[in-house]
Amino acid sequence: MENDFDLAVIGAGCAGLAAGVYGGRAGMKVCIFDKGKAGGQLLITHKIENYIGFTDISGPDLAAKMLEHAQQYSQVKEFIEVEHVRAEGDHILIKTTEGEYTAAALLLSTGADHKHLGVPGEEELAGKGVSYCATCDGFFFRNRKVIVVGGGSTAAIESLYLKGIDVDVSLVHRRDRLRAESALIEDINKTDMPIHFNKRVIGIQGEKRVEKVILECTDTGDHTEMATDGVFIAIGLQPNDMLAKQLGLEMTEDGLVKVDPVFRTSNPRVFASGDLIGGVRQAITAAAEGTIASLNVLPLVGKQYPW
Ligand code: NAP
Repeated sequence: MENDFDLAVIGAGCAGLAAGVYGGRAGMKVCIFDKGKAGGQLLITHKIENYIGFTDISGPDLAAKMLEHAQQYSQVKEFIEVEHVRAEGDHILIKTTEGEYTAAALLLSTGADHKHLGVPGEEELAGKGVSYCATCDGFFFRNRKVIVVGGGSTAAIESLYLKGIDVDVSLVHRRDRLRAESALIEDINKTDMPIHFNKRVIGIQGEKRVEKVILECTDTGDHTEMATDGVFIAIGLQPNDMLAKQLGLEMTEDGLVKVDPVFRTSNPRVFASGDLIGGVRQAITAAAEGTIASLNVLPLVGKQYPW
């Protein structure tokens, strides 16, 4: 049947697209759904220097290569949102914005969205100076002043990107040190970028656009104002777990989908990979997780492992 698959994958990021390549090459009929364009977080990653074999490639370029590769072995359905999933007997029912599908197994690789600070002004000024993606919005802030909030690798990459396109950027972090990869910290230290440690953003203000932020010193509790044209928020990710919850999958204490060593969830027909399950959250590990999961679907569809 046209809408009946061995493996349905939800989320066409690194994990989902790799599952498409391996699942298809192992003889399964694989379909990959994505509510947007294929590529996931790669699409908003300016530069990738740690995907083995690529010393320097843009995220969108790597995503395009992955998509082309996956399309050779599986059906990739972009701009189709999966609204509901249900496990029933020996298959999974998948209800999308474009009709219903069934599959013997499901791989959830729905990734994660940007976390919000949850401070006054953030939602009101979103798109008016508040941004979660330097690659998408940085260009509009050339020769203007912005802050990047966060102390992890994303905050480091976003601020280096902004610096590189002539944005007057400062980092604001709530602790006394960054926790980004050391290579990124070294790159930041080579610049003259100011870093405001021990400062928490407690408000974002402006009439029509962002004009300033209110900072609280985490040591003294003192409040100060800092004039800025933009606020780039890079404080981590929130897993997209709606479908996992619909299926009633077991979760970890940190709110991630619980998986076994082959990325099988508490439902034996459902696998999960990528940012939905946490871990080191790298493009290459997500691809590996999708690969391992897809090959472990084979026994469910009466096929032998190829090894
Ligand atoms: P992350 O490592 O979780 O860092 C989030 C940062 O935001 C932390 O410094 C955290 O502060 C801060 N933060 C969290 N909530 C906050 C709040 N409410 N207010 C102010 N600050 C807040 O997130 P990430 O940088 O997005 O990275 C996610 C994962 O992707 C990590 O595993 C990372 O290694 C990986 N990654 C890798 C690369 C790469 O090129 N290798 C690039 C990007 C991401 P605390 O330090 O106080 O907790």
